[in-house]
Amino acid sequence: MEAKQQLKSLTPYKPGKNVEDVRKELGLKEIVKLASNENPFGPPPAARQAIEREMSELAVYPDGYAAVLREKTAQFTGVDREKLVFGDGSDEVIQMICRAYLTPDSNTVMPTPTFPQYKHNAVVEGAEIREVPVREGRHDFDKMAEAVDEQTKIVWLCMINNPSGEYIRESELAAFMGNLPSDVLVVCDEAYYEYVVAEDYPDTLSFLKQYPNLIVTRTFSKAYGLAALRVGYGIAHPEITSALESIRQPFNTSRIGQFAAAAALDDQDFIKECRDVNRECLDLFYNFCKEYSLSYYPSQGNFILIDFNRSGDEVFDYLLRHGYIVRSGTVLGYPTSVRITIGSEKQTKDIIECLSEWLKPSMH
Ligand code: PMP
Repeated sequence: MEAKQQLKSLTPYKPGKNVEDVRKELGLKEIVKLASNENPFGPPPAARQAIEREMSELAVYPDGYAAVLREKTAQFTGVDREKLVFGDGSDEVIQMICRAYLTPDSNTVMPTPTFPQYKHNAVVEGAEIREVPVREGRHDFDKMAEAVDEQTKIVWLCMINNPSGEYIRESELAAFMGNLPSDVLVVCDEAYYEYVVAEDYPDTLSFLKQYPNLIVTRTFSKAYGLAALRVGYGIAHPEITSALESIRQPFNTSRIGQFAAAAALDDQDFIKECRDVNRECLDLFYNFCKEYSLSYYPSQGNFILIDFNRSGDEVFDYLLRHGYIVRSGTVLGYPTSVRITIGSEKQTKDIIECLSEWLKPSMH
């Protein structure tokens, strides 16, 4: 038996450390996980109620078309129902895009470092990967445009780039789309869309009207606090969504996930509150970085990448011993940094204090 040749270069996804294991291992009372950019406040109350309500329907297959969630999302985004496709997290939307468009004789262009699932799924399809290094955490659009040729099928744009937190400006997207051949599919990954406050962040949905070769992906895993239920979606021209629908698993999103997501979408006050707290906490981190002369990227997401000028693993280990799980930059392409998810105000103040205690002695 021989699995596909290209799978040899892949390693299974390594999740952040399991909270319970770490707690036991280190004999700690409490562990705060700030590693996977989840919302510390969980989902809004209406989503919890929807979950309880749908518990009585567990024996029945979900609606594969996700009609209720589709209707809600169509209203919320102002797009036609047929322009939506739902996935088992936006991870699955990314996978479906690769399955539908990539072949071994094609290539795909993406920044690096960025969210690893673009590359992962493209490798599975046997496509050639063209990675263009980011500059100061930002997409290098000139080089990305140069990397595109006749065989390019997909260009990936991580609108709020994970792990840097930097974002794509409206003028950058406009210039890039304006010069790109119309038969190249552009993916705008907006996993952190709800956290954005930058005024020059593009309205990707208005770009969709002009460019039928664009797909925007979003998720209920981040600001909506529903990572465990795995619901994400894509918004695109019906030609694209129908290609994705044709390969979608018949029951890819769960009934509980669909109804929880639909209820969460209704509570935009909750989303605004989360965005505001996230901003305040990011400011606390910026001040901390300034105080200790640490460089960082200003973030439009719910995470921050900080350069500690020493191995990211060392910072990771220190924080782990004190009950915090973060993401070491060594696995993210930034060996002297760590990526910290923005938690609640208390969690933020506490982790900053914990880091300050460590850094203080070496400062004086
Ligand atoms: N895109 C980006 C940039 C992400 O950071 C993540 C999650 N870490 C995802 C997509 C996938 O999220 P989900 O599958 O939970 O929607």
